[in-house]
Amino acid sequence: MRHIESNDSGYWLLTQGSHLYLIHGELPYGTASSLGFVGLKGMIIGEWNESPLWLIEEQNDEQREYVNLRTQLFLPEEKFYLLSRGVEINHFLKNHQFCGKCGHLNQQTEDELAMQCTHCSYRTYPVIHPSIIVAVRRDTQILLANHKRHYQPGGGIYTTLAGFVEVGETFEQAVRREVFEETGIEVNNIRYFGSQPWAFPNSQMVGFLADYEGGEIQLQETEIHDAQWFSYHQPLPELPPTGTIARKLIHATLELCEAADNNKRKFKCQH
Ligand SMILES: [Zn+2]
Repeated sequence: MRHIESNDSGYWLLTQGSHLYLIHGELPYGTASSLGFVGLKGMIIGEWNESPLWLIEEQNDEQREYVNLRTQLFLPEEKFYLLSRGVEINHFLKNHQFCGKCGHLNQQTEDELAMQCTHCSYRTYPVIHPSIIVAVRRDTQILLANHKRHYQPGGGIYTTLAGFVEVGETFEQAVRREVFEETGIEVNNIRYFGSQPWAFPNSQMVGFLADYEGGEIQLQETEIHDAQWFSYHQPLPELPPTGTIARKLIHATLELCEAADNNKRKFKCQH
């Protein structure tokens, strides 16, 4: 980051943790002098509506109101991910001010996005934590769980299973382990579906579809409040917001459930 000058202009992203500052629902736009940003530190992280998008160093800011990045899931994906990039870069710079190797002061490098020690020159790069997220299908049903953090009296969101990948583990092993730990269900036919940067604060969700192999639901009671098989044609509980990879996985799995049902009907007609 460098000091912002009065002529610097474009769109401006101010973050506080995973929250960001919007004016009437939009990013501030204009010159640094017109917006009062001169002298703060910032860097260009991409383009927004064909203008530069500046990330400003996190401020001790009590006058401005910030909204959670999650409220912006309605944006086109590339825009949502650019905001996520800003949130994650801010998180990285803020939390790597000192060298992890020798403890001296770090400074941001100019040739690439990294922090470098002023004493031993050790470089640290933005940290991303991979998490698997998986939708499990059993014939015409989907497995959905109500996590303790989502539980509300009367229900709350039911969603797919997810968890961090452990050191020395493949994504597929993480899928099998997480599903089994949280619900007691064994899965096979694990297929890659897609991914989503998830800046809360620095995950990368790696999405999979999987099929039921065996087992009965047994909840991991520290994390899961409830888990059930839901038929695709039944009314479903409250689902995660549109735009999340969880919602896309659920949608794709419900389509597979419907296809499986149609196949069965065809088979019956033929015999
Ligand atoms: Zn060092």
